[in-house]
Amino acid sequence: MRPSAPVNPGTPLAARPMQVLRGIAISPGIALAPVVVRDPRGLRLPPRSIAAGAVAAEWERLDRGLEAARDEAGRHGAEAGTRLGPQYADILTAHSRMIADPTLRRDARRLIEQEQIRAEHAVAEVLEGYAARLEQLAGSHLAARAADVRDIQGRILSHLLGERPEMVAEDLTAPTIVLAHDLTPREAAGLDPQRVPAFATEAGGRASHTAIVAAALEIPAVAGLGPFLDRARQCRLAIVDGDQGLVILDPDEPTQEHYRRTAARRSAWFQVLARQADRPAETLDGCRVELWGNIEFGGEVEACLQHGAAGVGLFRTEFLFLNAESPPSEDEQFAVYAGVVHALGGRPITIRTLDLGSDKLAGMRPDGSAEANPALGLRSLRLSLRESGIFRPQLRALLRASTLGEVRILFPLVSTLTEFRAARAVLDEVAEELRAEGHPIRKRPPVGIMVEVPAAALMADHLAKEVDFFCIGTNDLIQYTLAVDRTNETVAELYSASDPAVLRLIVLVVEASRKHGIEATVCGTMGGEPLYTMLLLGLGIRHLSMPPHQLPEIRRVIRGIRLETAQALAAEALRQETARAVAELLEAELRRAFPEPPGGSADPA
Ligand code: PEP
Ligand code: MG
Repeated sequence: MRPSAPVNPGTPLAARPMQVLRGIAISPGIALAPVVVRDPRGLRLPPRSIAAGAVAAEWERLDRGLEAARDEAGRHGAEAGTRLGPQYADILTAHSRMIADPTLRRDARRLIEQEQIRAEHAVAEVLEGYAARLEQLAGSHLAARAADVRDIQGRILSHLLGERPEMVAEDLTAPTIVLAHDLTPREAAGLDPQRVPAFATEAGGRASHTAIVAAALEIPAVAGLGPFLDRARQCRLAIVDGDQGLVILDPDEPTQEHYRRTAARRSAWFQVLARQADRPAETLDGCRVELWGNIEFGGEVEACLQHGAAGVGLFRTEFLFLNAESPPSEDEQFAVYAGVVHALGGRPITIRTLDLGSDKLAGMRPDGSAEANPALGLRSLRLSLRESGIFRPQLRALLRASTLGEVRILFPLVSTLTEFRAARAVLDEVAEELRAEGHPIRKRPPVGIMVEVPAAALMADHLAKEVDFFCIGTNDLIQYTLAVDRTNETVAELYSASDPAVLRLIVLVVEASRKHGIEATVCGTMGGEPLYTMLLLGLGIRHLSMPPHQLPEIRRVIRGIRLETAQALAAEALRQETARAVAELLEAELRRAFPEPPGGSADPA
C-alpha cells in the first residue's frame, strides 16, 4: 500500500459516514491517505488549517472573496440580460443576491473561527451544507436549487484562490490522494508518486492515456466515478482500490484494517512473483512466449529489467513532448534514446514515433484551434507527416541511436499502405541526409507499424509485405472497431477487448504475419491482462508487451497453461456471437486453470 500521512485534524472521522463509490479500475494498487479535491473548474483547495492568530486575516479574505464574487455575478447577470434575455439575467442576479446574503457570511465566519480553517474550506463546507439540505427536499422545486448553490460556491472559490487554477499536486508536502473531475495525460505524467499515492476522477475510461500514465508511474487510480466531488469536499481520508475500481471516502476503522491487510498480502504476492523473473515464459507443453515492457519514461527501463522483460516492446515517445515547454531538439531526443538503449544492455527496443493528438492533445490543432473529432483527426503519424519540423528531427535522433543497439522504429496509427510508404520515404530521406553529413547509420533498422485501425488489420496481408513487424495496439483497435471512445466513462461498458469483431481482426493480423514471416506483438492493454493471455496465445500471438509491473503475473499465467488448451479456447471464443459470451468463456477457463486467486496459498509455477 502507498504510504499514508497522518489524518488531517478537523471533524472527527467517526462523525462522517463512510461512502463507497464504484468506478472503473484504471491502474492497480491500493492507497490509503488524506485527500485533496481538485474542483471541476480546475480549482484545488489549499490545506485546511490556519494558525491560531490568523482568524481576522482570514475573515478579511472571506469578505473580499464574497464581494468580488457578488460583483462578478451581478456583472454577468447584466451581460446575460443583454445577450440572452431577462430570464438568464434573473438567474445570475439571484446568484449575486445569494452571495451577498448575510447568513452565508456569518456562517462562514463562524466556521473559520471555531475550526481555525481557511476561508475556502469554510465557504465550501457552509454551501455544501445548504446544497445537501436543499437536495433532501426531494420532489420540491427547491431541490434543483442545489445546483445554483454549487455554482456560486465555484465562483466564490475561484476568487478566494486567485485567478490561476493551481496545478494538480504542486506544493503537496505529505502523501495525498488527488480527487478530480478529470486529469489529462500530461497532468498525470507530472504527478510524483511519492506525493500522490493515488488519484480518482469523475470522468475517464479504462484505456485512456491517463490510465496508461498512471500504470506507468504505478499510481493506483480509479476513473469514471461520475459526479462525486461535491460529496468528497469535506472528506479527510480515503482509500483508492485500483484493483476493484473502488473509492472509499472516510473509511471506518474495520475497512481501513481490511485494506491494510489486503495491501500487505498483495505486496507479499508481488515479492514472490518478482523472484520468478528469470524463469522463461513458457507453457507447460513447451511453447515459448516473448515478454516485453511498455515504457513512457526512460526511468521505466529499470522496472522492465527487474521484471525480466526481454526488451522494450513499446516506447511511447510522446511523453517527451507533452512534458516539455517546446518540442525537444534532435540532440535532446538522441540523448534520451541513447540512454534507454544503453540501459537495456543489448536488449532490443521498439521506439514509436510521436503519437500526439486525440486525448494526448485535448483536440487542439497545431495552430491552437479545436478539432470536432480529435480521435479521427490530425493525430499520430498524420500529424508527423504534416509537421516535418517535428518528424524529421525525431527520425534523425532515432536513426543515430539505432547504431548503439537493437533499435526498431515504429509508426503509430497507420491506416493505409500509402501512409506507411510516405513515412518510410521520409525516413529514407533522413537516413540519406545523415549519411551525407558523415553520421554512421545502421543500414536498415527494422521498421514496423502499429495495427490499431481496422483498415490496417483488414489490409495486413499487403502491409506485411513491406513492414518488418506489427504491433497490435488493441486500445485504439477496440475504440475504432466498436466506435467507442476509450476515454469516455459514459460508454465504458461498450468498450471490450472480448468483442468477437476485435478477435477477428487480430486473427487477420496473425495470419498475415505468419504468411510473411514477421513478428506480431500485442502491445495494447489487452496484452497485459491475464484474462486474455490464454486467448492471445491460442490465436497465435507469441509476443506480448505490457506495463512492466504486469510482467510477473502474465508470466505466471503462461507457465501454468498448455498451448493446446489455449488453442481450443481461442477456437471456441471465435465461435461466440457477443463480447459477453467470450468474456464468460475466458473467465471460466481462467478460474479452471487457476482455482487459487492471485495471492492465494499456491506458489507460482
Ligand atoms: C494502443 O492503441 O493499443 C497502443 C498501444 O497505443 P496507445 O495506447 O499509446 O494509443
Ligand atoms: Mg494507440
